[in-house]
Amino acid sequence: MLIRDARFLTSNTRVDLCPPPDRPEYAFIGRSNVGKSSLINMLTSRAGLAKTSASPGKTQLINHFLVNEQWYLVDLPGYGYAKVSKTARAEWQKMLNAYLQRRENLACVCVLLDSRLPPQASDLEFMENLGEMGVPFVMVFTKTDKQSAAQTRTLLAAYLAKMAESWDELPQYFVTSATTKAGRDELLGFIDGVNQQ
Ligand code: GDP
Repeated sequence: MLIRDARFLTSNTRVDLCPPPDRPEYAFIGRSNVGKSSLINMLTSRAGLAKTSASPGKTQLINHFLVNEQWYLVDLPGYGYAKVSKTARAEWQKMLNAYLQRRENLACVCVLLDSRLPPQASDLEFMENLGEMGVPFVMVFTKTDKQSAAQTRTLLAAYLAKMAESWDELPQYFVTSATTKAGRDELLGFIDGVNQQ
């Protein structure tokens, strides 16, 4: 997919204030520092489109971008901030669940996972929740340029083995790097394919 245009639309805390659900939507989420902003900027070829994540404790927003006038890209706040208060975390959880359950044009959630780490409880739990809610998702492994291809393969195999313990069918996954642009064509091709359906 050629990215002709990508622009910021809105930031808000409520699903009912999101843009009209008139186009397919792809939401990006992951633990803080997973490389979400870098991946969004790499996919859209717009440096600085997604800002590096807000510091813990700041208002957590649902950020909408419009790509090629055709689909929405949504930057969801990262989860797994150790320092966020319980109240703020509960508030964010409520907003996120409302978004995931009620956003009718949500085509797919891209769950970002650091390719260098073993499976993290918060990520596994988040994907479990998506499964329970029936929300389609794919796994996007990030920062693969930071290690050898062999290391990525080993960690990926371990990740898939862990997923196979609780999933009958493994979700589709992408292996990416914001630095080398690895996985860009594949992920954009996937989005293109879903958009055509
Ligand atoms: P976010 O908090 O998930 O939005 O993560 P950022 O996109 O801000 O990235 C966190 C840090 O990881 C920054 O220092 C980025 O430069 C770095 N980073 C993100 N993606 C990559 C990548 O693919 N390769 C490398 N080498 N560094 C990355």
